[in-house]
Amino acid sequence: MRVLREPDRLQRICWRWRAEKKRIALVPTMGALHDGHLSLLQRARRECERVVMSLFVNPLQFDRKRDFRAYPRDFSRDVRLARALGVDILFAPSSDLFFPSGFETCVRVENLSRPLDGRFRPGHFEGVATVVGKLLILSAPHRAYFGEKDFQQAVIIGRLIRDLHVPVLSVVCPTIRASDGLALSSRNGRLSLSQRIRARSIYQALCVGKELILKGEKNPKRILEAMRRVLNVDRVDYVEVSDPKRLTSLKTLRRPVLLSAAAWFGKTRLIDNLLVK
Ligand code: AMP
Repeated sequence: MRVLREPDRLQRICWRWRAEKKRIALVPTMGALHDGHLSLLQRARRECERVVMSLFVNPLQFDRKRDFRAYPRDFSRDVRLARALGVDILFAPSSDLFFPSGFETCVRVENLSRPLDGRFRPGHFEGVATVVGKLLILSAPHRAYFGEKDFQQAVIIGRLIRDLHVPVLSVVCPTIRASDGLALSSRNGRLSLSQRIRARSIYQALCVGKELILKGEKNPKRILEAMRRVLNVDRVDYVEVSDPKRLTSLKTLRRPVLLSAAAWFGKTRLIDNLLVK
């Protein structure tokens, strides 16, 4: 496995691979790898001949500076895990190289970036779309792998790929959960023991919503109320019943439905979602 810092070196190698007709996978991450990331890397490894994993804690997508500084980082462990999984290139650019001096371009996926997390994290999805756009151009992958855990992000990237005619297939992989249902996230490590125990209530709330829908409940308001009653969190940003394509809230229920929630435990914010087909 090669660890690369320079965008132009990544681009040169990937273009050579393309000329050699190798199928390239891109798996963008912010590191602090857990089994959720590993599931993406394993699938990429199975489906493609060359795997590029990016590791970049993207400053553009953090709406709070403190969150950026506190984001977990463990580079040597990530390198070990990536190597063990058969990653070919770990691309970990420094900000200076990744953002050329005078950098001022922004990719904005207008409407899909507005609801859900977009309402609470101004500029977040512009930061994500801009950096993922750069990574797609640099690595010229045939397939790019994203987690359903960040459902809105996956929908936004799908739109970006279609709108900009990026010749890549986006592969969205299922959410990997701890045994109590909590979606794995690099941020889980920041929870205290009691926060960690209460954090499972996010998934429990989503399951309560799903059960009601499957039993025939048609009123989103009643579903949201039942979900909120289950949450045992310090603060709720949102609980939503949305259209999974447009991400807008549903006034009357029609399946498929996206149930999602974002909530705080002290200074840690977690998100999760469940698609009810
Ligand atoms: P991150 O490092 O948090 O930016 O995540 C990198 C990629 O891993 C994104 O596409 C995430 O959606 C995906 N991911 C994060 N957590 C999980 C999980 N628990 N299960 C599956 N994929 C995940």
